[in-house]
Amino acid sequence: MNKILINDLLVVGDEELNQYYMELKKQVESAGYHLNPDVEFTKSLLKNIIFNDNRYGYEACPCRLAVNDKAEDLDIICPCFYRDPDLDEYGACYCGLYVSGEILNGEKKLKPIPERRPSSEDREKLKTNSVNGIISSSSIPIWRCRVCGYLCARGEPPEICPICKAEKERFEQFI
Ligand code: SF4
Repeated sequence: MNKILINDLLVVGDEELNQYYMELKKQVESAGYHLNPDVEFTKSLLKNIIFNDNRYGYEACPCRLAVNDKAEDLDIICPCFYRDPDLDEYGACYCGLYVSGEILNGEKKLKPIPERRPSSEDREKLKTNSVNGIISSSSIPIWRCRVCGYLCARGEPPEICPICKAEKERFEQFI
């Protein structure tokens, strides 16, 4: 591994970064997601995720300010709670690390993505209205894969079922 320590922080070497990229790409594609096809851009985000993991002990979002408290930053550990709604609405996550199939295939253009994460004050208020500190999702529909029965709560069904790989059209709204 090609790792360098500067001021006690790990600087990620090319070899480790390439390995991390290849493993993540394989993993996300098998779950029906897509990394940004701009490999250099994607690797620059991954480098910062690894850096954050070394600094905080968790893989905080590379585009947001973490507070070095895992419980407080739980919603922005990559992949964050906001990835899927942003993929559904804008075709990419806030950082642009994940993109939709339409963006990947050039059928849709990327637009600026507004921050979906509530302010710290609003997150505090939401916590009091949620179960186990997880932001309430009671208004989010539940989708069921009609092939394997996989259930997920999100704005739209996933592009591909992460379990049986059935396509989006094969999901039905369950609740
Ligand atoms: S915005 Fe993208 S890169 Fe940032 S945490 Fe969410 S999924 Fe990861």
